[in-house]
Amino acid sequence: MGVSPEQINHIGVVRQSIDARKKQVKINVSLKIYIDEVPDEHRSIRQYQKVEQAKSIIVVGSGPAGLFAALRLIELGFKPIVLERGKAVSERKRDLAQINRNGSIPPDSNYAFGEGGAGTFSDGKLYTRSKKRGDVGRILEILTQHGADEKILVDAHPHIGTNLLPRIIQNIRKTITDSGGEVHFNSRMTGLSIEKDVLKGVYVGEKLFEGEAVILATGHSARDVYRMLHKQNVEIEAKDFAMGVRVEHPQTLIDQIQYTCTIRDEYLPAASYSLVVQVKQRGVYSFCMCPGGFIVPAATQDGECVVNGMSASKRDSKFANSGMVVQITQDDLQPYASHGVLAGLEYQQALEHMAFEHGGGAQKAPAQRLVDFVEGRLSTDLPECSYHPGIVSSNLHQWLPKSIGSRLREGFKIFGQKMPGYLTNQAVVLGVESRTSSPIRIPRDKIMLSHPQFKNLFPSGEGAGYAGGIVSAAVDGERVAEQIAQIFDK
Ligand SMILES: Cc1cc2nc3c(=O)[nH]c(=O)nc-3n(C[C@H](O)[C@H](O)[C@H](O)COP(=O)(O)OP(=O)(O)OC[C@H]3O[C@@H](n4cnc5c(N)ncnc54)[C@H](O)[C@@H]3O)c2cc1C
Repeated sequence: MGVSPEQINHIGVVRQSIDARKKQVKINVSLKIYIDEVPDEHRSIRQYQKVEQAKSIIVVGSGPAGLFAALRLIELGFKPIVLERGKAVSERKRDLAQINRNGSIPPDSNYAFGEGGAGTFSDGKLYTRSKKRGDVGRILEILTQHGADEKILVDAHPHIGTNLLPRIIQNIRKTITDSGGEVHFNSRMTGLSIEKDVLKGVYVGEKLFEGEAVILATGHSARDVYRMLHKQNVEIEAKDFAMGVRVEHPQTLIDQIQYTCTIRDEYLPAASYSLVVQVKQRGVYSFCMCPGGFIVPAATQDGECVVNGMSASKRDSKFANSGMVVQITQDDLQPYASHGVLAGLEYQQALEHMAFEHGGGAQKAPAQRLVDFVEGRLSTDLPECSYHPGIVSSNLHQWLPKSIGSRLREGFKIFGQKMPGYLTNQAVVLGVESRTSSPIRIPRDKIMLSHPQFKNLFPSGEGAGYAGGIVSAAVDGERVAEQIAQIFDK
């Protein structure tokens, strides 16, 4: 640049990404160079005021949508009262270890329910397709303020890791309670208090929690919430969703394919992939790919088998797993039509029960080598797999609904052409990946963000159908909080 080194006061990284499209892998780094200038790299720190005397807003669910709504409410001068059906993160950790050991699922404390929601014990991938970069940047800054590494602010594909997320979630809770907000664990909302078409609050068993407004951020695994809303004649809508399997490869194989190498260079992270194709007018795509990760039992009830993926911050396990799912449309739900708006839930649950039966119980997952699945034969043995409760050989090609199974098999063939080496019997598919998205939307006004029947009910996050991932759920929680601050006097 023709600048003498003495003139450079500071060099900051603005963005970092890996370009592995060619044999020579490149790391692209954008830098901000301060020439004869004072660096202005300090991040804006959010100030959380005292709100114990302020008006209360009930927040149901402490996932990313609920927690970020609560933080934003505090910034805007309201007192959040967070109700969470599950346990605090440290106790929840013990329940997860138990699930992995004996395959029995505590219904209020599992991979989906408990402090921090479904995002706590996850890969902690923080990328989103959201175009609202400002909002996304805010979420990432708040995460760093609560203990996340600042590199998430510059990585093109930031992730935190399941080993670090719990501490960040605990710090967020501390901010809420230190400011005078409340967080109640073991507090499952069981009903809405509605008097003469006015929503007064929510019930946790016999106990009524009242507030100016209610933010409903219960995630997409809370089937009891959808059923309760339906029973109380609160409008909900069916929406398209996706289901399929989780596929796991040796990480070295994915590294070799993606980096065109024999051994991954020590400076490169475990390689990931993203695949999508249309098969018979439906999307078949990879979802929540976890390089260097583990497959986990993500059911919320005994008798269901649900698989999902996570990884630690170093992404250093021997395995690469990814959901591989097919779009489910209302046509698939015909056999469940008698359930009306709840047909999607019944379809999801029926498939989870089927997977449980084929796995033989105790959270063992039905599994098949990838080529065997595509070519339609039972696997005589199975490869090593990261899934702790264990896997059992099963003819997934036979019992998965045809609309899913046949498209997945076709999709895997095409992915094998896109990524030579991907379609291999070293890989294994596990059933079922059923909780990628919500089969139900809780409607809300596009501008007011409130439910059409109740001016003070604000559905938010993934369970309401307005987010798909940690960051988008957090962005949506903040948005709802901001709208509440616009509508209600402090
Ligand atoms: C294993 C796993 C890995 C994942 N990995 C990633 C990833 O790497 N990146 C990513 O972006 N996304 C990931 N996801 C998805 C992500 O976690 C969700 O998209 C996100 O958490 C949705 O946020 P939410 O706040 O809308 O709902 P949730 O996180 O589901 O939170 C809902 C909360 O509400 C509580 N609740 C439910 N019913 C009630 C009730 N009746 N009363 C009181 N509380 C209730 C639940 O206990 C829960 O804490 C993963 C999910 C799983 C399960």
